Amino acid sequence: MNDQGFLQNSLDPKRTTVAQKALRTWYLGHARDLPWRSEPSLYGTWLSEIMLQQTRVETGVPKWHAFREAFPSVADLARATEDEVLKAWEGLGYYRRARLLHRAAKAIHEAGDFPSTHAEWLALPGIGPYTAAAIASIGLGEAVAAVDGNVQRVVARWAGIRQAVDSKDGARAVGLVADALLDTNHPGDHNQAVMELGALVCTPRAAQCGTCPLAATCTSAGREEAWTNLPVKQPKKKPVPWDLDWHVATCGDLVVVVQRPDSGVWAKMWTFPEGPPSNRFAALGLLFDPVTHILSHRRITASFHGWQAPDEASLRSYADEVAAYVMTWEELGALARPRLLTKMWEELSDVWTASERA
Ligand code: SF4
Repeated sequence: MNDQGFLQNSLDPKRTTVAQKALRTWYLGHARDLPWRSEPSLYGTWLSEIMLQQTRVETGVPKWHAFREAFPSVADLARATEDEVLKAWEGLGYYRRARLLHRAAKAIHEAGDFPSTHAEWLALPGIGPYTAAAIASIGLGEAVAAVDGNVQRVVARWAGIRQAVDSKDGARAVGLVADALLDTNHPGDHNQAVMELGALVCTPRAAQCGTCPLAATCTSAGREEAWTNLPVKQPKKKPVPWDLDWHVATCGDLVVVVQRPDSGVWAKMWTFPEGPPSNRFAALGLLFDPVTHILSHRRITASFHGWQAPDEASLRSYADEVAAYVMTWEELGALARPRLLTKMWEELSDVWTASERA
């Protein structure tokens, strides 16, 4: 059967009805007990959808609780400062999500209520078609299919879509099938069921067709040569190497820190200057071996150079030269830092302890 044939077959209402029923039965018996499901609210659903965009569920659950505790309502989130929001987000990475979440909270608070349709959600900062569809179907019962990576995989395997799912044609084919498969009477449960199936059963490396509720209707069921090659994706670009030199200049418990620009990588987060201090500072050399850190499009190799200031006045004058600030390690620890810095915090604390003793 050619691609067109597979697609026509997938849109057959008899086939989609059988699949919908099997999916719903499976979901009601197998759904994971997640906090935003047991205490459903638009605020909780929205937060979970933003947090889980690039974060695993196991990491997301404790952060979701902590975030709810820090900002119990959308009004609390709207009234918080950006630094407070970024601090609460620490550990989740991709900080742009936190900034956009904060902007959206302000817009919701100003409007007086949450959006009540898929289209209204889509108009908020940080909300793309998938997130708007997930929130509108789960939180508002609107019949709209949500397509994330898990859904792409399940749908591509189920319907045998051989076009790259991240190409225009492939995305269109996945969208058509996802719409046809949608259980319009239970859109929230249905969308969560397909995502859950992708997370637990039809996983990237192992499709457990023997226990899958879609096996009776799936084009790839039990055919390893079919599902291992699906979904097809366009070739990825290699991450660009980025050599970063950070200069950690200290004096007692004080350190020089800079806030990064408003846009670009790690926007507005706190790091160390990239320019060295004058030769009146004692060079301590590399504090530890360079650290490799991968961001989505960059491969960072960070070198931490240590410097001991002769006195506090010299430290402050260096800070002025590089448009930086002087603060205690404790103060820096309370600010939003890139994950690379939090990852190395213990090693950096050793430097601070040694510096305090000096
Ligand atoms: S039958 Fe197999 S390939 Fe098809 S959706 Fe289920 S797990 Fe995936």
